[in-house]
Amino acid sequence: MSGVFDRLSEASVAKALQELSTPCYVLDEKVIKENGEILSSVQEHTGCRILLAQKAFSNYDLYPALAPYLAGTEASGVYEARLGREEMPDGEVHVFSTAYKAKDLEALFNYADHVVFNSIGQLAVFGPVAKSSGMSLGLRINPECSTQEESHSIYDPCAAGSRLGVTRAQWDKLMTPETFALLDGLHFHTLCEQDAYDLEVTLDAVEEKFGKFLADMKWINFGGGHHITRNGYDVPRLERLIKKFSDKYDLQVYLEPGEACALNAGYLITTVLDVTENNGITNVIIDASAACHMPDVLEMPYRPPLYGAGEGGEKAFPVRIGGPSCLAGDVIGNYSFDKMPRIGDRLIFGDMAIYTTCKNNTFNGMPLPDVHVLHPDSTTTMVAHFGYQDFKYRLGSS
Ligand SMILES: *Cc1c(COP(=O)(O)O)cnc(C)c1O
Repeated sequence: MSGVFDRLSEASVAKALQELSTPCYVLDEKVIKENGEILSSVQEHTGCRILLAQKAFSNYDLYPALAPYLAGTEASGVYEARLGREEMPDGEVHVFSTAYKAKDLEALFNYADHVVFNSIGQLAVFGPVAKSSGMSLGLRINPECSTQEESHSIYDPCAAGSRLGVTRAQWDKLMTPETFALLDGLHFHTLCEQDAYDLEVTLDAVEEKFGKFLADMKWINFGGGHHITRNGYDVPRLERLIKKFSDKYDLQVYLEPGEACALNAGYLITTVLDVTENNGITNVIIDASAACHMPDVLEMPYRPPLYGAGEGGEKAFPVRIGGPSCLAGDVIGNYSFDKMPRIGDRLIFGDMAIYTTCKNNTFNGMPLPDVHVLHPDSTTTMVAHFGYQDFKYRLGSS
């Protein structure tokens, strides 16, 4: 994972972070901008438009840093659409929701430009009013082309029986000429942390199943899951694929990555609270929890990068790092160190900007970590601070 902690080797950054109380997330504005540069050049080379999928990253204090590089935001519903409109006001706002409520749609029309439906039923019912409210309308298709490992089936919208997107069989059964005439574009989202080769395979499946409808469309949205800003991602291949597709069908191509916008742009700073021993396993307990503060560690699952640590058996002192909650499985992972961690030491996890601050919770009455921005000049600003009230207000009437 070269590059994840590059900025922490700057003395001024290390000093600034040392002063923050833990646990806290630190969002790295410099890395956000570097990601933005990469996404911006893909747009320049291909004419595609790239949106921030806010469900992965919605720390809007950094939207002004991303805005110059992006075409707008993508939302999963009315709250994210509103946030995108308010905080990246000059950008387009696209919405995809697996199912809309009539009352939310009314509100959505105030914020959105593009509305993507997940079923022909919802398109038929809500499409006419959305269209007359000025929305550009899309339908999510399901190309039934799984490119993800089976162990990731929770993240595979093409898994058998999926509720996400319209298959060609559903299309043939339910699409009417009137409903088809409402459509401006098609949308698919089938990838997760994948490279351009998997997109290529997916595009072939999209063409094979839905190619004949593309001539009537104005745009196509390739969804998210493109790991464009990761070291080694095949950007030239992505650019060739976008160019080829948009030229062949004369379509505006959209991409809506979440991860790629804020990849490696955050840290979770924690403190060691205790070190215990059980049958040869050294448990290091920190003041942050996988279950509460890095839920994808348990859901994906994955082991986040940890500054200065090696793989489980790599260095002299192997440890298992876990959170302070009561959940037995609140384990962040097995790591190893040159020196045994001690109570009071700080441990810094990497790639903590995505699917963290927008997804954390207060299970076990766990405090929410504060959120800071680390600026390019190594100063920090606290942008969110939480206390007891943030735990209590969601649970009752006071
Ligand atoms: C999750 C999601 C995205 C963003 O995915 P990333 O893996 O974060 O790039 C984009 N579009 C849709 C419809 C999604 O569900």
